Amino acid sequence: MLSMVYIEHLLYPMPNFIKDDYWFFPMFRCNHNGRCCEDPTTQISLTLGDIWRLCKAHKKSALDLYKEGIIGVFPFGDPFKDDEFETDIGLFVPCKHRIFNEKMGKKICSVYEHRPINCRLFPIWILAEAPMNEIMDLVKNHQCGECCGVDEDFEEDRKIYQKYKGALVEIIEREIQLSDPFYESLGLKKRLVAKKSNTQEDDLKIVEKLVADLQKEDFSEVFIKIDDEIKKHEFEEKLPAMEEFL
Ligand code: SF4
Repeated sequence: MLSMVYIEHLLYPMPNFIKDDYWFFPMFRCNHNGRCCEDPTTQISLTLGDIWRLCKAHKKSALDLYKEGIIGVFPFGDPFKDDEFETDIGLFVPCKHRIFNEKMGKKICSVYEHRPINCRLFPIWILAEAPMNEIMDLVKNHQCGECCGVDEDFEEDRKIYQKYKGALVEIIEREIQLSDPFYESLGLKKRLVAKKSNTQEDDLKIVEKLVADLQKEDFSEVFIKIDDEIKKHEFEEKLPAMEEFL
């Protein structure tokens, strides 16, 4: 629900007393705290469309982005099996797009307008669908909670999150239908089995070891083929922003 406070946020810089009090936010608003962009256990897979949009933002090829360590082949945890991973194309995390911005006095996403669909979906998919206790967990236990508005209008706001999520999901599904068979044809989707972990520290060590092992391999040929493939398709250049659904 678009409230006057939100309109004011769009028009004017936020005073600090508001910035520090997430309860005051009427709706989610990314404040670039970067937890989701810097935690190495975060997994951000990329569709061919995501890669095409990042190439446009950087004015570089996918091969260039791979050689600069911005994108690559990474392990993605199987949501149903704790100890299994599948290799896929993704962003290197901690993400190299987090760059210090003089004007804002902090690190922000330097490709925000061109960021991947998975970056756009977090935490919108949680706010759109999750039960209230999970949303409160997000607000209280994650730094991202600083930007999540949870007030008496939340169920009204949820309808906006659902519409925004729906628009993004439509695009990601379309692009996945194109990307997944292509990545499979490159022999990319391999299963990796790692020791089961019990703690977050273990998780981190396991992911770091898998990433380090994959980084020893040279995937240049894969990214040359991706550059050829993205030239053959048309992708949406400008993805929807949540403001369009208010
Ligand atoms: S592309 Fe931007 S939003 Fe996505 S992980 Fe990188 S810094 Fe974060």
